[in-house]
Amino acid sequence: TKEKNLDFIALYFGEPDSAGHKFGPESPQRKNMIKQVDRTIGYLRQRIRESGLESTLSLIVTSDHGMETVIKTNEIHIQTVANFTFKDIQFELLDYGPNGLLVPKEGKLEHVYSVLKNAHPNLHVYKKADFPRRFRYANHSRITPLLLYSDPGYVIHGVRCVPLERGRGEHGFDNEAMAMKTIFRAVGPAFRRGLLVEPFESVHVYALLCELLGITPEPHDGKLLPLEIPGWGVAHAPATPGHDLLPAHPTLRAPQPRTQMICRSLGFNW
Ligand SMILES: [Zn+2]
Repeated sequence: TKEKNLDFIALYFGEPDSAGHKFGPESPQRKNMIKQVDRTIGYLRQRIRESGLESTLSLIVTSDHGMETVIKTNEIHIQTVANFTFKDIQFELLDYGPNGLLVPKEGKLEHVYSVLKNAHPNLHVYKKADFPRRFRYANHSRITPLLLYSDPGYVIHGVRCVPLERGRGEHGFDNEAMAMKTIFRAVGPAFRRGLLVEPFESVHVYALLCELLGITPEPHDGKLLPLEIPGWGVAHAPATPGHDLLPAHPTLRAPQPRTQMICRSLGFNW
């Protein structure tokens, strides 16, 4: 609110994720849930208007994944793989969908890898060092020596008879799969109206938020997307007295009208 002078507000909706898991992405239940969430967003925008904040508040609506239908016959059971035993495993993180993390016991890495590598045509098994770079995932100390992921529609079963969070829909598949794509919509003084842009990765949203808020970003993997397109301007976050909000990028030093803010989005525009 104006009185409290907040700079950044984040809202998280647990739907339609829950309905998507339980009933599947194509189900009427999930479609109804999407309508409900859409009404809620409509209410939010209405209250922004009624509160006189439309000219000063920029709103971004996005999510972190899509949803894929899981078919029962497409389950991958690690326990049934020939020559595989959990006795060779020191630590496992399985049963959470299409991903798995394994720490083999000392001296067992090569054996476990060779046993699982070609165990199932829709299961991908990697040693940490060989995990595809495009996932931006394996270059971290918390990631285990062996990594597993399955193709869209397939989920990995490990040690539990009743899998966790398992229903008719799942996410966490390869982010190049169309069903994993999500939405990005933005409206407000920081964004150009009616602009439709090419798809982009969500890893870049952080840089955009930092730019809008006049914050110097911490180290991250994203880029400030609008800067890559010649001639496209970027507006500055609303000026706060005592703060220099001019971005460091040379093309941005000259103040520009805020309506020139470019933001990439996918799909329809407000
Ligand atoms: Zn979920």
